[in-house]
Amino acid sequence: MAYIQVESVSKKYVKGNVETRVLKDVSFQVGKGEFWIVAGPSGSGKSTLLSILGSLNEPDSGRVLVDELDLFSLSHDERALFRLNYLGFIFQNFHLLPYLTALENILLPTLAYPHKISKEKEARELLKMLGLEGKEGKYPKELSGGEQERVAIARALIMEPEILLADEPTGNLDSKTGEEVMKIFAELNRRGKTIIMVTHNLDHLQYATHALFLKDGEVLEIKTLKEAN
Ligand code: ADP
Ligand code: ADP
Repeated sequence: MAYIQVESVSKKYVKGNVETRVLKDVSFQVGKGEFWIVAGPSGSGKSTLLSILGSLNEPDSGRVLVDELDLFSLSHDERALFRLNYLGFIFQNFHLLPYLTALENILLPTLAYPHKISKEKEARELLKMLGLEGKEGKYPKELSGGEQERVAIARALIMEPEILLADEPTGNLDSKTGEEVMKIFAELNRRGKTIIMVTHNLDHLQYATHALFLKDGEVLEIKTLKEAN
């Protein structure tokens, strides 16, 4: 059985008497260790799909199974625990808290954990791995866009999730910095992380194992680009 199984997922938004069908019968299967890029025009449903994979948004119909867990049959609390245990989220706008330092931002997810845990050693290792040594005491506004993105990546990694979900992580970066960030994702994938990334940038396909093209909420095409390690 696939690691992530998306079965006939549909979603619509209703505003007044206008109904927008954002996802129509979307199905695909992601194996452990694969790196999927979700591409498609603006408004094609990419962010909505990612938020459903992250169990932050519920489909109207269909199922999502991760490691055989049926996400939308879990209770609210079980789903929160699922997110903590399995997922790291990375957003286009980084979503760093401005009044916390880089190190404190990276440690933020540990505060959401039911038990008290210390991850400072791991956070410092991540800072080193991501080339952020010496930046631990800096506030987000003192960091460049690429550095902020790397802090956001470290924060997503601190609980050692199996799966990384990234929504346009290079969207606000210049192309050189974006390329460096993509190399980090490629390295994380090489080390075994399963990655699903939304992007407009088709140059990024060179790093992925699979591509899913969405159009008007429908799967236009699924491509295998290379084998996962
Ligand atoms: P993409 O990420 O491909 O740009 P989105 O998933 O963000 O696509 O949006 C797909 C469509 O759904 C768009 O028409 C958008 O305006 C609409 N949409 C997204 N989120 C909401 C929401 N919370 N309420 C109403 N409509 C939404
Ligand atoms: P992007 O294209 O960068 O993904 P969007 O404009 O699609 O950004 O979405 C930004 C946020 O606004 C998302 O959380 C999405 O769910 C929400 N959103 C998008 N379109 C609508 C809409 N028509 N009504 C309400 N919320 C929306």
